[in-house]
Amino acid sequence: MNDLPGLFLTNSQTGEKEEFRPADPGRVKIYSCGPTVYNFNHIGNLRSYLFVDILRRSLKLLGFVPDQTMNITDIDDKIINQSIEKKISIEEFTRPWIDAFFEDIKTLRVEELEHYPRATESIEEMMKIIDRLKENGLVYERDGNVYYSISHFQNYGKLSKIDLSGMISGARYDADEYRKEDLRDFVLWKAPKLEGEKSWQTRHGLGRPGWHLECSAMIRQVYQSGIDIHTGGIDLLFPHHENEIAQSEGAFPEEKFVKYWVHCEHLLVEGQKMSKSLGNFYTLRDLIAMNYSPLAIRYLFLSYHYATKLNFSLSRLEEAEKAISRIQNTLDRLLPDEPGALPSSPPSGFALPAFKEFLASLADDLNTPRALGKVFEFLKEINTKLDSDGLKEDEKLDCLSYFYEINRLLDILHFEKDSLNDSDVERLILERTEAKKSKNFARADAIRDELLEKGILLEDTKNGVKWKRK
Ligand code: AMP
Ligand code: ZN
Repeated sequence: MNDLPGLFLTNSQTGEKEEFRPADPGRVKIYSCGPTVYNFNHIGNLRSYLFVDILRRSLKLLGFVPDQTMNITDIDDKIINQSIEKKISIEEFTRPWIDAFFEDIKTLRVEELEHYPRATESIEEMMKIIDRLKENGLVYERDGNVYYSISHFQNYGKLSKIDLSGMISGARYDADEYRKEDLRDFVLWKAPKLEGEKSWQTRHGLGRPGWHLECSAMIRQVYQSGIDIHTGGIDLLFPHHENEIAQSEGAFPEEKFVKYWVHCEHLLVEGQKMSKSLGNFYTLRDLIAMNYSPLAIRYLFLSYHYATKLNFSLSRLEEAEKAISRIQNTLDRLLPDEPGALPSSPPSGFALPAFKEFLASLADDLNTPRALGKVFEFLKEINTKLDSDGLKEDEKLDCLSYFYEINRLLDILHFEKDSLNDSDVERLILERTEAKKSKNFARADAIRDELLEKGILLEDTKNGVKWKRK
């Protein structure tokens, strides 16, 4: 399609919906704050990663080429404490959590991004930023720690519009065990505190990075420049993102650091943020063990706008499952009995107006709930036609193109009647493994039987489950 709508995004910095004009539409540079790897992610975390997927797939549908990064925070207090406790290296400690993170996002069909840098592999870039900050008079050292001096950076607070007077009083700021000149200052490079703590010998002393510095450094490492979009959960806006601005613009004042800040709202449980510390969370694996489909979670997140809070409940997941079936059932009415070639071009006739409405909704600040609403309006039109005078062959084909294109965002549909594609098979295998782990053997057996019925043979080996088609 050559008349694609222009994309508008709400920029947290201005609070306005702004037309998205990247420096290079052929390479849109996007950085998203990723997981700290010391545990399973809860589905609140996963909402913010799925948001990154919505952004990516929408950009592609709207004609952009994304070049995306999500960092892995593989060093922090919790990681250090737990690896010391378990007497293993931080690499050994974090490896299974990194694997679990990638497994989870794959299960939710989050597309793989171009870059996944790790904090522990970006130390030299951190040193370079500290070098520049030092040259620009923005750092000081105390007891082996390197601090950022906020009072020397003019634009502090421009993203969060935070009231600095409140912070100086210390009311909501942790002065922790470090000695700072100003309560607002934050630590860039931390001297070791514990016996056996992972640290690096560097030109700025022995130590390890502060969390904020990691993100500024990984952005530089990947792009060697500023970026078009920076995303993260809304809780990261202050102080994390504000501090990233202070570091990156303090070090490279000649460059624009981030053009558009986009923040994803929280997943709530009974009105409160889902979080590990409150204990009100589900992991993806919990829900799979309870027989919920990961695609229902994907759909549920898609059905709420990223900037609105979403109150999670199991009944909402059940509704999501039904909604997926309603879309698939209509698609099944159009699919040929024998598997044919998949559509290779976007709709151009009967389904074109509906597809344009779908894209226009995405272009309006990634309004996925409206886009889904448009899908349901079109389903009604298709079903009414099929129930009365039918659809002509070329109209059916155009509808198939429509479903194929919307599925480039949704990724919840399958295009062969009663058959499973590879990712469906892998998803079911993962679900079976989880069911077995939680001793739900009835469910595990049911999945094996279901797969067998659809021509998929499983073999349990000591290296995991292998599968093949009959
Ligand atoms: P953390 O592991 O706590 O650093 O969080 C990783 C990501 O998940 C960050 O982008 C957070 O903003 C995001 N996040 C944490 N809790 C929630 C929640 N309840 N809903 C949505 N996003 C969240
Ligand atoms: Zn970050």
